[in-house]
Amino acid sequence: MALVTMRQLLDEAANGGYGVGAFNVNNLEQVQAIMEAAHETGSPVIIQASRGARKYANDRFLYHLMEAATEVYPEISVALHQDHGNSPETCKSAIDLGFTSVMMDGSLMDDGKTPADFEYNVGVTREVVEMAHEVGVTVEGELGTLGGIEDDVGSGEVNLTDPDQAVEFVELTGVDALAVAIGTSHGAYKFTKEPDREVLAMYIIEEINERLPGTHLVMHGSSSVPKELVDIVNEYGGDIQPTWGVPVREIQEGIKHGVRKINVDTDLRLAATGAIRKAFAEDPSEFDPRYYLKPARAAMQKVVRARMEAFGQAGHAKDYDPISLPDMAVRYREQGHQLTVT
Ligand SMILES: [Zn+2]
Repeated sequence: MALVTMRQLLDEAANGGYGVGAFNVNNLEQVQAIMEAAHETGSPVIIQASRGARKYANDRFLYHLMEAATEVYPEISVALHQDHGNSPETCKSAIDLGFTSVMMDGSLMDDGKTPADFEYNVGVTREVVEMAHEVGVTVEGELGTLGGIEDDVGSGEVNLTDPDQAVEFVELTGVDALAVAIGTSHGAYKFTKEPDREVLAMYIIEEINERLPGTHLVMHGSSSVPKELVDIVNEYGGDIQPTWGVPVREIQEGIKHGVRKINVDTDLRLAATGAIRKAFAEDPSEFDPRYYLKPARAAMQKVVRARMEAFGQAGHAKDYDPISLPDMAVRYREQGHQLTVT
């Protein structure tokens, strides 16, 4: 399986001044939708699986779905990332499985719920960096906590990232990428009105980027929750209360200030659910799952394509040849944790 490391993908994005969407998967249709959108737009892409996804799909199925993705779309640079690893053990199992990148979320204790202190976070993240870089795998850390709870992850408590601590954290841990908390939440219910720049605390991203220009910043909980998608779900019998996500233009502003990875999950869930509800309503006599899974896949693909275009990754799939994991490991050994891949 020829996957790119996330480090290379993000370094190239930094060189090119664009962001890369990281889309969550649990099943075949999601992998197909994302890969087809990447193919259509010529985009490098990050596919990520949470612990919940690995449990749902089974590691072996996930591995072979990703292997199939790289076989069917050999021209697409794709990184496979563990989303919200709760412990060094979870990250180790992802690395053993063939993931090219892991997130050690030490902002929470290993129950994935209780906010952890700075020392704990530094300790577990440092441990994962040592283990992962040894074999060329990328590491994302998180400082501060997001609101919301999704896939059983999250304290539901917002703690914005402190820029001084961010500098210290990166120096102490050697992470390649840092997830920052700027007031967003996981899930569909992020804001009760359209968020402005203050609500979103974009100044945190700007300040951290000025002080850590070599660290790739990650925006979690960055679905835009478009009204059109919510409306389709509700029109066909759904019950989603009015809600706002992160506007695409704010993400684009973040990309100008060092945001390289943007996590999007909810928007695909909404697109799929709306398409399935519509299909059920339009022909209640149908019972072939392909009848509703095909429009669901197409609706997800459309969202992914729009994000790839908006984030600027479109057209960059063939910009570079993948550096193998063993070669990346040599680079970390020779240049230290804070290397530059160019
Ligand atoms: Zn997240």
